[in-house]
Amino acid sequence: MKSLFFSIFIASVVFLLVLFLYPEQTLTQADIDRLNQKKQDLIQKTHTLYGFNYNVPLYIEETDKRVWGAMLYSGGMPQKIVINKGYYLENPDYVVNFVLPHEWAHVVARLIYKTSIRSHGEEWLAICKSLSEIRCDVRVQDEFVAEEKIRSSLRELLGGE
Ligand SMILES: [Zn+2]
Repeated sequence: MKSLFFSIFIASVVFLLVLFLYPEQTLTQADIDRLNQKKQDLIQKTHTLYGFNYNVPLYIEETDKRVWGAMLYSGGMPQKIVINKGYYLENPDYVVNFVLPHEWAHVVARLIYKTSIRSHGEEWLAICKSLSEIRCDVRVQDEFVAEEKIRSSLRELLGGE
């Protein structure tokens, strides 16, 4: 009897250890739908306010980089938006309400101004504010200080911001 309890105890410890080492990091269909719905809203707003009917694919990827999201270019044109999956799972509301409009504002800024403006200059800020009902300040949170560092190296490597 004692050894049975001992076995169950060991099995439980192993089980908890596995749970701890491999926490569930799954994206549900509802998450994907929610992000894509927000993107659709931004596309619609962009069409209404700026006349562009432009779409880029949205990727939610695991990354070691301490960056919430990034907008990447190809041939000078917005190519895709990448969202940090781990950060999304930790704070989905923040990503939907803040990170996605932030990245989308880079799409619109690039369409309007090409490469003639700073990444987070006043033109980008005005676009972001016009698209987002929340807020668009970039450098308030600690994460965004780190983000900016990674962005600049990412920009050099891939041409994203
Ligand atoms: Zn940015």
